[in-house]
Amino acid sequence: MGNHLYDALFGRHEGRDADFLILPDGGRVSHAAFADRAARFAGALVAMGLGSGDRVALQLEKSPDMLAVIAGAIRAGVVFLPLNTAYTPAEVAYFVGDAGAKLLLCDGRAEATLAPVAAKAGAQLAVLNADGTGSFAEAAAMAVPVPVVERNADDLAALLYTSGTTGRSKGAMMSHANLLSNAEVLVDYWRFTDQDVLLHALPIFHTHGLFVATNVALLAGARMIFLPKFDASEVIRHLPQATTMMGVPTFYTRLLDDPRLTRDLAARMRLFISGSAPLLAETHRQWQTRTGHVILERYGMTETNMNTSNPYEGDRRAGTVGFPLPGVEVKVCDASGVDLPAGEIGTIELRGPNVFQGYWNMPEKTAEELRSDGFFITGDLGMVDADGYVTIVGRGKDLIISGGFNIYPKEVELVLDALPGVLESAVIGAPHPDFGEAVVAVVVPEPDALLDPQAIRAALGQSLAKFKQPKHIAFRDTLPRNTMGKVQKAALREDFKGIFA
Ligand code: ATP
Ligand code: MG
Repeated sequence: MGNHLYDALFGRHEGRDADFLILPDGGRVSHAAFADRAARFAGALVAMGLGSGDRVALQLEKSPDMLAVIAGAIRAGVVFLPLNTAYTPAEVAYFVGDAGAKLLLCDGRAEATLAPVAAKAGAQLAVLNADGTGSFAEAAAMAVPVPVVERNADDLAALLYTSGTTGRSKGAMMSHANLLSNAEVLVDYWRFTDQDVLLHALPIFHTHGLFVATNVALLAGARMIFLPKFDASEVIRHLPQATTMMGVPTFYTRLLDDPRLTRDLAARMRLFISGSAPLLAETHRQWQTRTGHVILERYGMTETNMNTSNPYEGDRRAGTVGFPLPGVEVKVCDASGVDLPAGEIGTIELRGPNVFQGYWNMPEKTAEELRSDGFFITGDLGMVDADGYVTIVGRGKDLIISGGFNIYPKEVELVLDALPGVLESAVIGAPHPDFGEAVVAVVVPEPDALLDPQAIRAALGQSLAKFKQPKHIAFRDTLPRNTMGKVQKAALREDFKGIFA
């Protein structure tokens, strides 16, 4: 039977001398060395009493060892939950408790603060530092490498918590087959081979850097330039050695801000991919002008991995997320789940081998969002055009209802963003005594631009119906974003909740 995910991603590379990771200091980690390390970490997990189906939580700085612990967990049949490094001890306490983790791995610096957290949750605590030291590394050095534990396609591989953009993070239960089937499709769709070198600057606690980037590279036998975090100078330094990069939109805007980004610098690249948050059409255009490359935008989520992608060959359309991936069915539905015709906006529903097994410990939430016929109600609003391209217009929870009319923030944002002097914008609803909600526009001016609210109002009046026009316009230097580049609209709503009171 074997181990469905381990065999495909890691087992095939065991003993290979070829490079897997290229580190910022020029160091290399071969597949063979990585697999040995993973086997030792698997041994340490087993020695600490974890077995098939038990959970290990990790809040670790990105490092080759963190990845090797994940590989080791898969090898040992242990379900892993990687946690955002920005989470506070109180947040970590929630995840460790919710997951019923038997072990929490943390950096040495966090050990003292997390010790009571682990104790309260009844979990063991061990340290693994990014430089490969710590009590868990010591346990691994003593451990006997364990054989690969058998795991089925339907067994759980990971509990991946969602980003918490719309509420409390939910633990998405991902099976071995959920993860492997998606990686197989992506390797093929994006033409990854063992000749590729993927520039990896994303965090590995989130699906984008962990399952999309890493699993695709492993399955294709590609190498990864493994950077601890995104830093424009470091990315620019390594770009000439890479063939592909995956990034969130802020990677692209920050690189565009740097004059060292040129056509020459990107000459060896074959593919730039963007996702996790909407890429502005303007960024798409600027990137093409500056580098000659057309960014390929795709759409995915924690619960499903990747769902749609712009084509490798053919027209990569700015502002769209392309076509459903092979094996993924996409529907746009009204509230009762009835299919809508092309061009109409509704809720995106998805079905396919990539769709998760449900939310950990949340049977009601799972029942609300996973239909009995297998379709997952994503909560994203979108439409499919006559050519089959999918466009995301926002999240259902961000929809504004003013005086009984629906307003899609994206429609207003697109008009605002096109105005001279506007860098970007976020449109939200704020409680309003007459209309229920009214539109608030938060506008980020371009550097040195002087924007006049009256002029903005006049310009919007040309193209938007009265009820869609902002009743309040605020200026900000930046929009609040999380590490994945997602605009935190809930935080903005909080800021403006009293504006019409
Ligand atoms: P939570 O579910 O906890 O509120 P979240 O949905 O932000 O958080 P993730 O699973 O990390 O957590 O993000 C998935 C969401 O990101 C999608 O549902 C979608 O709204 C957004 N997204 C991903 N890719 C794109 C894209 N290319 N364009 C627009 N939105 C995108
Ligand atoms: Mg979500």
